[in-house]
Amino acid sequence: MRFLVLGEFTDTGPREATLELALAAARLAGDPLACAVLHLGETADPGWRLPVPLVTVTHPALARFEAGLFARVLAACVGTLDPDAVLASATTTGRAVLPAAAALLRCGLTADCTDLALDPEAGGLLQIRPAFGGSVVATIASSVRPRMATVRPRSFPCPAGWLATGSVRRLTLPADVFDPRGVVVTQSAACARAEEEVADFAGLETAEVVIAGGRGLRRAAGFDLLRTLAARLGGRVAASRGAVEAGWIGHEHQVGLSGRVVSPRLYVAVGISGAVQHLAGMRTAGTVVAINRDPRAPIMQAADLALVGDAWELVPRILERLERAGRFP
Ligand SMILES: Cc1cc2nc3c(=O)[nH]c(=O)nc-3n(C[C@H](O)[C@H](O)[C@H](O)COP(=O)(O)OP(=O)(O)OC[C@H]3O[C@@H](n4cnc5c(N)ncnc54)[C@H](O)[C@@H]3O)c2cc1C
Repeated sequence: MRFLVLGEFTDTGPREATLELALAAARLAGDPLACAVLHLGETADPGWRLPVPLVTVTHPALARFEAGLFARVLAACVGTLDPDAVLASATTTGRAVLPAAAALLRCGLTADCTDLALDPEAGGLLQIRPAFGGSVVATIASSVRPRMATVRPRSFPCPAGWLATGSVRRLTLPADVFDPRGVVVTQSAACARAEEEVADFAGLETAEVVIAGGRGLRRAAGFDLLRTLAARLGGRVAASRGAVEAGWIGHEHQVGLSGRVVSPRLYVAVGISGAVQHLAGMRTAGTVVAINRDPRAPIMQAADLALVGDAWELVPRILERLERAGRFP
């Protein structure tokens, strides 16, 4: 089985999520040469190597992330390289690009996998992911080639001492792939929002102040309110899985067992019940403030300050108080 992994990089090398996914795919294939990582960028040679082959596509248009363009380029690479499976991390980028590429290639997509395996009989890729809110684990076998899947970061270990011995291959694609007039998939509002969110969750794990929202916010606009509060307190916005599953905010913001672990000085939980899986991600926070309609919600027991009431009433009042106290820049 040959894999192609959509790579994500910083200026100095691959992101951990890319590396762990590429190495897991290489292990599955039983051969490091059977998994290539795709590098889309402006520069021909990024100047570093991976433990698996790197395929680079270079074009000035790739200097800036644009989900529709990246999806077209990925689809064109799949046409040329003909992998059996295409993988991306379930990050903001992977979640924006892979579904659009799958639509172009007329393939299915399994989103948010937590494990991958090889089908011992048919030899295809088994895509494993929680379903029905995590109450069952579904194993999905797709008959369409290439199999396409996004995989949650940290689903596989990322070995520390890997060797940068992989080759680099430069792939040249037809010019019209980069031509915006050839757009087949237009950038959806969801993709645009996902790009905006990239900056929003950066530094969440090390933030001093985290404002987290849950299903009790009732709609996506609740996070605009929380973003205002976070901006005014110099903090970051996080979410419970309930809010992520409602589609109000990206998974990158999720705090908890299957999300990020945060340890801020101040953690404000708004409309979050406080399930054990959520508490696992913020247990070490300094001061916890909870806003919830239900005084018996578990988060209220875990909080230093429990405010009983409607989030849509209390958060604006807190903003007003802060304004009066002169906390705004
Ligand atoms: C394997 C596994 C892993 C998981 N990993 C995670 C994880 O990483 N992170 C995570 O968060 N969860 C995780 N969960 C899910 C977890 O069990 C809960 O289902 C989830 O945390 C619930 O999200 P919530 O608190 O937003 O929603 P709910 O449980 O629905 O709670 C909503 C809360 O909002 C309150 N509310 C309602 N309306 C208002 C209002 N107007 N104003 C104020 N309050 C209001 C309600 O009283 C309630 O307490 C995991 C589950 C499993 C099985």
